[in-house]
Amino acid sequence: MSNIVLQFSKNELSKVKEYYEKYITKVPPNSLFLAKINHVTVTAYKSGKVMFQGDHAQQEAEKWSAQSTGKSSSNRAKASVNEHNYQPPESLFTHAHIGTDEAGTGDYFGPITVSAVYVPEDKIQLLQSMGITDSKTLTDINIARLAKEIVQEKIPYTLLTLDNTRYNKLQKKGWNQGKMKAMLHQHAIQKLLAKIGQAPSHGILIDQFCQPSSYLKHIGQEGMKLEKNTFFMTKAESYSTSVAAASIIARAKFVKEMDQMSKQYGFTIPKGASSKVDEAAAYFIKKNGLDALSHVAKMHFANTDKALKYVKR
Ligand code: MN
Repeated sequence: MSNIVLQFSKNELSKVKEYYEKYITKVPPNSLFLAKINHVTVTAYKSGKVMFQGDHAQQEAEKWSAQSTGKSSSNRAKASVNEHNYQPPESLFTHAHIGTDEAGTGDYFGPITVSAVYVPEDKIQLLQSMGITDSKTLTDINIARLAKEIVQEKIPYTLLTLDNTRYNKLQKKGWNQGKMKAMLHQHAIQKLLAKIGQAPSHGILIDQFCQPSSYLKHIGQEGMKLEKNTFFMTKAESYSTSVAAASIIARAKFVKEMDQMSKQYGFTIPKGASSKVDEAAAYFIKKNGLDALSHVAKMHFANTDKALKYVKR
């Protein structure tokens, strides 16, 4: 049984309450409500802390992970994120290595994209001088330009896209986002290793999105193994040029896919998972139906139910 805690702003917390309104079974002392849904117990507190308990706690919590402020209010959980035996050595950042990162995981619309990039030692400085840095700090236009420049420099990379149709199938099969991401990262790494052959590499750095033990469990379930010298680190794009380059390539592909989707359906499909996204999803359903939505959105996000409420109005 797992136990997940998410932290919400006041505004988001009221949305959470509204969502679980009809599943509320009681209001324990010091809490906002206790609801039971799909064998998951959801307990919300006035502080904005919401606890998900039960066998499917992870799946239930994932509906909200994009909306939560991401900070677990349990300090123990927070501190343990970087307490593991897979920390990269300082020397990795100045030597040739592979870095991986993904995009699209918190966005309701659009695919998940994952990239792995190998930056040879003599290209690290060049890429840094080009402005290769965390994609989150860059505009979409700069991301597209930088991605092109990375490719022009003949930097070896791989890029995988998990489209929404397959995403929703895997999700229904019981895969959580963590498992999808782990499998995508691992495939991207293995394809890149095959591509670079004997080129010198000091290791592989994964921009950490879950505990290494979970990553190992996920890929192990599908018969895959961690490569030698694999390291995990949060915010790795700020330290590793390889991870920064991977974040740009993954993000550029995600943006491109979103642009194509917008073109195909004749309106600007918004990124993220805000209330603006709920409205866009409602508009999409009215025009194309719920079935079509499953080819462009991550259906288990809370946005789907919110959009359906708009449609019924
Ligand atoms: Mn990342």
